[in-house]
Amino acid sequence: MYDFHIHSDYSMDCKYLMEEMVIEAINNNMKSICFTDHMDYDVTENGIDIDFRTNDYFKKVKQVKYKYLKNIEILAGVEIGMQPHLSERYDDIIDSNPFDFVIMSVHSINRKDIHLDRFTCDKSPIDALTEYYEYLYQCVNSFNNFDVVGHIDYIDRYFDESTTLPNFDEYSHIVEDILKLIIEKGKGIEVNTAGIKYGLEYYHPKLEILKLYKELGGEIITIGSDAHSPEFIGYEYKGAEKLLRELGFKYIYLFKERKKFPIHIG
Ligand SMILES: [Zn+2]
Ligand SMILES: [Zn+2]
Repeated sequence: MYDFHIHSDYSMDCKYLMEEMVIEAINNNMKSICFTDHMDYDVTENGIDIDFRTNDYFKKVKQVKYKYLKNIEILAGVEIGMQPHLSERYDDIIDSNPFDFVIMSVHSINRKDIHLDRFTCDKSPIDALTEYYEYLYQCVNSFNNFDVVGHIDYIDRYFDESTTLPNFDEYSHIVEDILKLIIEKGKGIEVNTAGIKYGLEYYHPKLEILKLYKELGGEIITIGSDAHSPEFIGYEYKGAEKLLRELGFKYIYLFKERKKFPIHIG
């Protein structure tokens, strides 16, 4: 098993040491894990940067990597919170550090955090979805220095429970454009199993999006739990792998030194 989306105390929303996460990953029989701590630049109205000291980070990864070398492979990635005006800043930090893997996620829209600033609360669901996906399209379009797009339908988590979400057909054309662009750029997507943890009935992205990605010829896909605590490492991993197999995916991918490696899931 290969969990390619894990946080540690280098993320401000996770309090667990890398070593605690690693020990649990070994207990769960993970073969490889990749830390993908948060870098979210220019968020909130005050333009705060959420990031970590990369020197420290790589030093720490190296320590656990060699300590547990016989038990597990440990890789060092990052999850960037993209907004189109940040392309150059992210290019700089990514190019000057030896990351194995880069997840590009959208957590904020024009500095408004989707979760904390309640992005969805003052608009109709279809308007919120349209605005979110148009923004995601711009992000994918304006940046190349990433490997996969994180939790594509992340916004689904942040509607009130009473809200009925529009049918996927109503906004699938924008999602299709995003997926085509990802494929054209030779990038991938992830199956992020945390959807279930956040009360949805599906992983990110939902079945319709995974099917569409496959139909459009998408192949590059990673599996990640988005664990912020040890018990979620490898969460629903087998379920995600099974789903991908049923949808006709033959491989999942690992990334090392930004190069992709297919793993047959038969
Ligand atoms: Zn995220
Ligand atoms: Zn994450």
